[in-house]
Amino acid sequence: MEFTWNCPRCSAIARSAALESRAELKCPECGYDRPIAAGSIAAGELAACAYCASTDLYVQKDFPHGLGLAIVVVGLAVSTLFYYFDMPFWTMFVLILSAVLDFVLYKYVPEVTICYRCLSQCRGGGSNPGSRYLPFDLAIGERYRQERIRAEELRSRAAEAEANRADSSIEPQAR
Ligand SMILES: [Zn+2]
Ligand SMILES: [Zn+2]
Repeated sequence: MEFTWNCPRCSAIARSAALESRAELKCPECGYDRPIAAGSIAAGELAACAYCASTDLYVQKDFPHGLGLAIVVVGLAVSTLFYYFDMPFWTMFVLILSAVLDFVLYKYVPEVTICYRCLSQCRGGGSNPGSRYLPFDLAIGERYRQERIRAEELRSRAAEAEANRADSSIEPQAR
């Protein structure tokens, strides 16, 4: 399995190969490392997020966003051209070809398992053992999105309080 995560120190997107046989995640950019979350790997398979230990994970097709759409749009444009030149066979042929291409691509593109909480991604055999992880659930996703917003607010408020403390130590009479 390959594990993709966001380095908290330098914000780089770090990739760690062979997740099942390593003990730590190490950022190749800044050297930051942390042990793999306890219990995240069981029998060589992903049991929880290797970064934050959350068991709320979802799967989606590992498909570049827009590629499927691009196939449909290009197919439609080309078939419109054939339609314009009064070539019904080629009009239908291109339409059907783009639909088939879209379907085949969707069917054979592998899945990626993603953590709702920290958005780390896991690819490869064992990343969705027994198909236990389900597609994205809006309600769960929203809960974690709100959690991220709150965490961000707390962080900025703490930074503000820190800045105020620094101010007041310079000018104590101002308080
Ligand atoms: Zn880093
Ligand atoms: Zn996570």
